[in-house]
Amino acid sequence: MRKNPGEPEFHQAVKEVLESLRPVIDMNEEKYRKEALLERLVEPDRQIKFRVPWVDDKGQVQVNTGYRVQFNNAIGPYKGGLRLHPSVNIGIIKFLGFEQIFKNSLTSLPIGGGKGGSDFNPKGKSDREVLAFCTSFITELYKYIGADEDVPAGDIGTGAREIGYMYGQYKKITGRYEGVLTGKGLTYGGSLARTEATGYGLLYLTEEMLKCNGHNIAGKTVVVSGSGNVAIYAVEKAGQLGAKVLTVSDSDGWIYDPEGIDVTALKEIKEVKRDRLTEYKKYRPNSEYHEGRGVWSVKCDIALPCATQNELLLEDAKVLVANGCIAVAEGANMPTTLEATEFLQTNGVLFAPGKAANAGGVATSALEMTQNSERLSWTFEEVDSKLKQIMVHIFHNLSDAAERYDQKGNYVAGANIAGFEKVANAMLAQGIW
Ligand code: NDP
Repeated sequence: MRKNPGEPEFHQAVKEVLESLRPVIDMNEEKYRKEALLERLVEPDRQIKFRVPWVDDKGQVQVNTGYRVQFNNAIGPYKGGLRLHPSVNIGIIKFLGFEQIFKNSLTSLPIGGGKGGSDFNPKGKSDREVLAFCTSFITELYKYIGADEDVPAGDIGTGAREIGYMYGQYKKITGRYEGVLTGKGLTYGGSLARTEATGYGLLYLTEEMLKCNGHNIAGKTVVVSGSGNVAIYAVEKAGQLGAKVLTVSDSDGWIYDPEGIDVTALKEIKEVKRDRLTEYKKYRPNSEYHEGRGVWSVKCDIALPCATQNELLLEDAKVLVANGCIAVAEGANMPTTLEATEFLQTNGVLFAPGKAANAGGVATSALEMTQNSERLSWTFEEVDSKLKQIMVHIFHNLSDAAERYDQKGNYVAGANIAGFEKVANAMLAQGIW
């Protein structure tokens, strides 16, 4: 607190992780203390903050602040997205970068943790203004990144358009054609299956968690929140695995479809027409549209929060338990509040935290890096099958970690412990840095 005033999200993230690491730390206290391992882990390798001037469509110069926090590269080059949103500040970037260390470690791929972004808001800006911002942003950031140093990706506000503009300028300045950014278009080094990866990965991990606890996903009913990238491909994969998805939502309302969400209609509305969920009824007359929030009130076996942070509250968790829900797996980052998570876990609901359950996206980004270094493009099936292997491995890794520390079935603790152990061992082996 004393060292990082005004960074509440970062304090919260550190506290949550360190609390669940207590049993690991207790067993190795002397070693970790002597090496100041935890003190080193919570201090980023470096924090880069820079001016981003650009000219708007009226000819006026605008100034934003850019950030890149290179948190930890013990197990590989820094990797993490660039968030473009007015709420961005150093505390938020540090919280996301800190979480990213453990998520990336869990994938079993050689990627360290980092995060970056700017308080620039792409919403409502023209393509030319976005190009002007991205060009200015990367003209400073390019000094600090590279295919073997730090590989940024997309995040909120940074999609294929922004990554394309940044990549073009990076290439122009450096003359290098390399995998310095992920989330690229398929014509210039992007990976097949990246679009599907987070939603599909969520279902692969959920399927494995259910299987290892004596359940079969086929025939189960599922409620999904959100209707963006993660939600759409979670719905699609759940259907392919024989489950029936009853709901999707957006920030205005939600759909209940008793016959199961029609993913083709959903894609048409959200990806092609970029429309609202009120349109869904035109495709499925027997469905219902409700304003406000409410997906967690629908009786289900499995709940998949895939929209945003803090969207599944204690009161929702109580309804899910009362309705006989057996599993919750987080597609979004931090969608379940701490109280709701504790309630679900103490009432026997299998709970997969986002750090593990939504790691399919970054894992596939790491596969994009591999394809770029090899100058190869793998088929959709190759990438998808590697993604499945990774997600199954993540589940066993965190499940085993929880069991080793007498917390069988506590997948939240297991994810933090498994993510931490690999990074801690690498840091200890590499001396003092
Ligand atoms: P999108 O922007 O594609 O979709 C977000 C969805 O959530 C939209 O349907 C949006 O509705 C809805 N939503 C936003 N706020 C609310 C709210 N308050 N109540 C209900 N619905 C809401 O994002 P993604 O699908 O890419 O990401 C979703 C989550 O998953 C985020 O937490 C993200 O950080 C996380 N994540 C995403 C990864 C990826 O690869 N995409 C990887 C790992 C994590 P509306 O259209 O009305 O805004």
